[in-house]
Amino acid sequence: MALEPMIGLEVHAQLSTDAKMFCSCSTQFGAEPNSNVCPTCLGLPGSLPVPNRTAIEYVIRTGAALNCTTARRCRFARKNYFYPDLPKNFQISQYDEPLTHDGYIDLRVNGEEVRIRIRRAHLEEDTGKNLHLASGSSLVEYNRCGIPLMEVVTEPDFTAAEQCREYLVQLRLILRTIGVSSANMEEGAMRAEPTVNLVDRETGRATPKVEIKNLNSIRAVYEAVSYEIERQRRAVAEGREDELFQQTRRWDENNGVTALMRRKETSDDYMYFPEPDLVPLEPDPEWVREIYESCPELPAERCERLRAEYDLPEYDARVLTESRELADLFEATCERFEGAAKTVSNWLMGDVMSLLNEAQMAVSESPIGCEDLAELLTLVEDEVISGRIAKDVLATMFETGRGPRQIVEEEGLEQISDSAELESLIEQVIADNPGPAEDFRGGKEKAIGFLIGQVMKATQGQANPQMVNQIMREKLGGTQQAPS
Ligand SMILES: [Zn+2]
Repeated sequence: MALEPMIGLEVHAQLSTDAKMFCSCSTQFGAEPNSNVCPTCLGLPGSLPVPNRTAIEYVIRTGAALNCTTARRCRFARKNYFYPDLPKNFQISQYDEPLTHDGYIDLRVNGEEVRIRIRRAHLEEDTGKNLHLASGSSLVEYNRCGIPLMEVVTEPDFTAAEQCREYLVQLRLILRTIGVSSANMEEGAMRAEPTVNLVDRETGRATPKVEIKNLNSIRAVYEAVSYEIERQRRAVAEGREDELFQQTRRWDENNGVTALMRRKETSDDYMYFPEPDLVPLEPDPEWVREIYESCPELPAERCERLRAEYDLPEYDARVLTESRELADLFEATCERFEGAAKTVSNWLMGDVMSLLNEAQMAVSESPIGCEDLAELLTLVEDEVISGRIAKDVLATMFETGRGPRQIVEEEGLEQISDSAELESLIEQVIADNPGPAEDFRGGKEKAIGFLIGQVMKATQGQANPQMVNQIMREKLGGTQQAPS
């Protein structure tokens, strides 16, 4: 039978609110263990939860960005289970009445449009963390307990691991763009759990669903999903279908395999019931409308607009919109620079990014702003400095925070465009290098490159290269004209 992968993704994202979901404790990352706690998030008897309005707003905003409908009325539910990192013995979550539901996201994967339906984006609280020490004892850390957590669940619409990867890249960008989560997978602020099985679309026959738990990088999702598809394919092909039962597996990064954790629990195991300590949630329709209308331009739309408005190649538009700050810097620089937008894009993707990467800095921390960058590129455009010198000036700007014009003036870096000065230099170079000069006259076009190189070297890169090329050709007296 022709088996096709059927993959769904559940993503948990910590919302970047200052306070926890049901109390006013701080959500600060890296605080002293068990310092951000109170009777409510510790689940002490008699404490009562109060919902965080900002967290509710963030989920509605996510719903708006993912084309979801926001419920007029919904309820929180208790998910009951015992675990040491869950002091109440239940988690306040949402079950059959999510805050937002039924949306979609359009992806472009290998040149193909794929629509992934979003089943729901709901609100819940995070658990604490268990730390197991080498000595054999365990510690429990409750600072994370009660941090607002959003769960975004797709329909099983993915048919390949590449699509899952692209979805996570786009979702992370969207959550950052709308400012609801750092979506930083390394810090655990975003975690993904794929569900993978195989289906025969003709007969409807399918293998049981396998859920892979707590993946903390996009690469891990890609590899775990790829592995799981292959594992199930092989089991079917080799007649070992008894190994395929509904189960939860974990990703073993070191060995590149998924491994059985447990047979899958069902929702019945959690005995969900409506949370009796909270009234149903009925967000004001006017407020919801405002949130939907203020939804900012999303990365995919911006990428499309940058391509059209600035006439950029798709690759450039995509790289620039991978970070909202980088795209902002691009547009702000273009506003101040009269040359081609592609020039700005080249400098940002090349020299600026490599300086930032070397210093391990984010774009938001860049010491080079749009005004200085536009001024630098204008100096090149006006032939005050060469592109080669501009690279050095950029590095100095980055290090010292000084403006480009100031650096060029103080260090005397203006391009030499004085033809008398260049002429005497060129005559000297030709006299010093009779061999290559003769080669060029004899028709060896390549030889002129060496001679021009000598002039550039003598002027430390400051000679105007177009002028050098032209004068050099005239002096060599060749019949050949400089290419225009
Ligand atoms: Zn608290």
